[in-house]
Amino acid sequence: MSGAAPSDAAAATGPAPAAGAGRPPAPGPGGLSAAIVRRQTVPIRVGSVVIGGAAPISVQTMTKTPTEDVDGTVEQIARAADAGADVIRVTCDTREAGEKLREIVRRSRLPVIADIHYDAPLALMAIDAGVHCLRLNPGNIRQPEKVREIAARCQAQGIPIRVGVNAGSLPDRGKLERGRGGGGPEEVAARMVAAARGHIAILEALDFRDIKVSLKASDVLTNLAANRGFAALGNRYPLHLGLTEAGPSSTGAIKSAMGIGILLAEGIGDTIRVSLVDEPEEEVRVGRQILANLQTRPSGPNLVACPTCGRLEINMVPMVARVEAALQRVRRPITVSVMGCVVNGPGEGMHADLGIAGGRQKGILYARGRVIATMPEDRLVDTLVRELERIAAEDQRLLAAGEALPEGIPEAALAALAAATDAS
Ligand code: SF4
Repeated sequence: MSGAAPSDAAAATGPAPAAGAGRPPAPGPGGLSAAIVRRQTVPIRVGSVVIGGAAPISVQTMTKTPTEDVDGTVEQIARAADAGADVIRVTCDTREAGEKLREIVRRSRLPVIADIHYDAPLALMAIDAGVHCLRLNPGNIRQPEKVREIAARCQAQGIPIRVGVNAGSLPDRGKLERGRGGGGPEEVAARMVAAARGHIAILEALDFRDIKVSLKASDVLTNLAANRGFAALGNRYPLHLGLTEAGPSSTGAIKSAMGIGILLAEGIGDTIRVSLVDEPEEEVRVGRQILANLQTRPSGPNLVACPTCGRLEINMVPMVARVEAALQRVRRPITVSVMGCVVNGPGEGMHADLGIAGGRQKGILYARGRVIATMPEDRLVDTLVRELERIAAEDQRLLAAGEALPEGIPEAALAALAAATDAS
């Protein structure tokens, strides 16, 4: 095996297509909309989470605490888990971080990916710590014997490796113009794909194929071109999607929705990470919204809220903020509508699992297509938020117990809501 830098000529063939390849896969539970035919990939396993194949698209995020701070990191992982993350990535840059990984893995509610750059001893420490996946580029490790050792240890312990190429860290990025290269997104994307193929070829030469791949840029067009280019190679390695340095939530969420959502709609992508200048749980929330809008993840809540106009009859903006906050911890598929007047409010309310429609200083509470009560404006939103908090608590309890989540509002809960509304 050669430890030389990856070359453009290196081949990444990937696992051979299985019999029946080319047939559209049946959408799995929580998987893509039936209208989207997913690129066929060979699944890998990151702890308890399957990535690729017919598995639902999983949502990842990354801790932002120093990994040396075990309590802070574990607490952040717990918040990401509450928000609906499936997998967590933790950076590992120092010996002390490598030593702390074992405790983090033991206390983490999510499978842990260790993010390693250049440092083979840290990769071996992470494997010893029991991490569930490594994010590591073998072409960046100079000693071939160390790459061989890492691959052998991962193989023996069933630990996959994510090969990740970022446009901003291409070897000759100094020649790029504004991060895109003189030829524009297509040229940078082609070089990203070549770099990924080089890293993959090093692992394939060691007969290691438990691989997933990411190609990330900070602009949407390069991101699209790189991932389309890799998908067109015809191998079956799962793809991790995301934009790097997407920015603060207000703009980064839009860029990510485009850069990730367009690819998912084309059937490309098996797991996603939204990168924001924000808390990990916000990244998860945006990621889940992207999936929910493609019906890849109908397990999430969906908030319908009118934009308001001159007909507005209630104080909508703070109401929507309260409802949105209450929905953060809800995990089941549920549609909630918050509408400002009687023009569109009743229609949306009747179609939602839970909804409110404003009137003059009062409004109507709907649940599962029924009018539950008419009540004053201040009580209206209190009642809705209380019900969402009850649902969130039930969801968290069911998930902790490993039980399936119900869809929407079961009949018994509806009756309880109606009774509580009568009594109040
Ligand atoms: S629901 Fe009523 S208040 Fe809201 S945008 Fe429509 S017409 Fe305007």
